[in-house]
Amino acid sequence: MKLISKSLVAVAVSLAFGSVGAAEHVLNTDVVVIGTGSAGLSATVQAAEAGAKVITLEKNPFIGGGTAFAEGLFGVESEWNRLRSDTLTREKAFEGIMERHMHEPNAQQVRDFVWGCAENLEWLAKHDIKFEVVRMTPWEEATWHVIAPYTNSKGVTTNHGAALVNALKDHADKLGVKTMVQTPATELIANKKGEVVGVKAINTRTKDTYTINAKKVIIATGGFADSAEKVQAWSHRDPQKWVSCAPINKTGDGIQMAVDKGAAMGQVSYVGTYGTADKNNRVTIGDMLTASWQPSALWVNAKGERFDNEEVAFSFSQAGNSIYRQQGSFGWTIFDEKQIQFMENQGVDSGVGVIVPVGAKLKNLRNEIAENIAKGADHVVKASSIEELAKKTSLPVGNLKKAFETYNQACDQGFDGQFFKKSRYLRKLDPTKLYAVKLRALNFTSIGGLLVNRNFEVLDKAGNPIKNLYAAGVDLSGYVGATYTTWSSGYAFGFSAYSGRHAGLNAANAIKASK
Ligand SMILES: Cc1cc2nc3c(=O)[nH]c(=O)nc-3n(C[C@H](O)[C@H](O)[C@H](O)COP(=O)(O)OP(=O)(O)OC[C@H]3O[C@@H](n4cnc5c(N)ncnc54)[C@H](O)[C@@H]3O)c2cc1C
Repeated sequence: MKLISKSLVAVAVSLAFGSVGAAEHVLNTDVVVIGTGSAGLSATVQAAEAGAKVITLEKNPFIGGGTAFAEGLFGVESEWNRLRSDTLTREKAFEGIMERHMHEPNAQQVRDFVWGCAENLEWLAKHDIKFEVVRMTPWEEATWHVIAPYTNSKGVTTNHGAALVNALKDHADKLGVKTMVQTPATELIANKKGEVVGVKAINTRTKDTYTINAKKVIIATGGFADSAEKVQAWSHRDPQKWVSCAPINKTGDGIQMAVDKGAAMGQVSYVGTYGTADKNNRVTIGDMLTASWQPSALWVNAKGERFDNEEVAFSFSQAGNSIYRQQGSFGWTIFDEKQIQFMENQGVDSGVGVIVPVGAKLKNLRNEIAENIAKGADHVVKASSIEELAKKTSLPVGNLKKAFETYNQACDQGFDGQFFKKSRYLRKLDPTKLYAVKLRALNFTSIGGLLVNRNFEVLDKAGNPIKNLYAAGVDLSGYVGATYTTWSSGYAFGFSAYSGRHAGLNAANAIKASK
């Protein structure tokens, strides 16, 4: 598809952006999609296949957003479930999701997705995306459709979310879609009747500006988790203590642009997670992260008190909540030399997604701990007594000793009368060979912001659609409650691709119908 540039006015000096030679462009198209994650690219490809001319904008110099880090999509009663004889039904999935989200979501929105997700996976499969169902933990159903590697048109092979991104981008290119990277949408254009008629954008490198006249606009900007200001204002969480684990400048742009044009805001939430981070809030990855995800450790809070059944480690979103609500929003996971040897030689009880599978042997853990301690890190310590551990972690020694005593007694008895951890994870701690890693509450993405109807048209405060404006992905409210559950693995990613595709299809069909 050829981009139509009606007027290309070069301006010698752009006072607004202080750059020399920036140009003002006016483009015309059927559909503008804002964002190139799973929602934006699904919308892009589907709208283009349905006959629309599409321009897709991306704020970053690279495509893919948070999707590029994700691993798999939710599906139930899919072809891939059939081949494994998985037993979860759509009815049970619907009930399970509504119950675990405390009936806060819009039941019809959840119902539409649960019934449509398998067909959506088949649509993705027709676009060169291959799946394998993985059930990672005892807390999950077999819904996680993890994406196999994909080699793109440039010969580059990626896997998981990045594979989906690259496969859809190849299809978008073949369909003639113009993808403009490093060109954030800055504002929706509305006419006097309040109908959306386009988007303004700027190339942040060249400072060229764009007025893109469009019949339909689809917002898919990936939420607001990287904006400290919005995390505080919209979700009332402390951004210093609720750390974005893959910060790529997702600052709620689409939500804000729609709200500026009269959209209502719905409930916001997160895909929470946890792990460990240094004093500058840089998330530590590698074996230390995996070690912090183990159910066999002893978890204590700032008061030196055990604060949960450590089996919550299996469910990253719930574990994030548990840690966040502690005093100071942190905890310590304490293990000993024997547990290090277990993780090195027998492999971990809890993996980290499919990147670190259950049973992975943490051959580098000892080195990572030593290196961090040598650097003076304050999120990992080694101690040869409870007193020394208390001193190095600034935990009250009396409470810590009590927590150890109660915990080790439970291990001896094989019964945890405090929080009922299964006996297989009760492993007595040797107080002379201790390690502790600081647990921090993190998040993968925010979820929520805009309300939509069943066509994914954005609603205003009176509940009416704002004409020509659609939204998809984690910019949407309505499919999760206050807390994301990992029970229905891949739910956020699955919904993003599904909602994006249907927004794209509905937008393209509405254009056809109006001709
Ligand atoms: C490490 C990690 C692992 C994850 N694993 C999973 C998983 O396995 N399963 C699961 O369900 N979920 C997972 N998630 C969450 C997952 O990212 C989301 O479920 C989903 O992929 C979000 O898709 P999206 O298209 O809505 O947003 P994104 O993929 O974030 O895409 C939004 C895009 O919009 C762009 N954008 C923002 N503002 C503008 C603007 N003004 N103009 C133009 N472009 C803009 C962004 O740069 C970005 O590229 C994971 C997230 C992370 C970080």
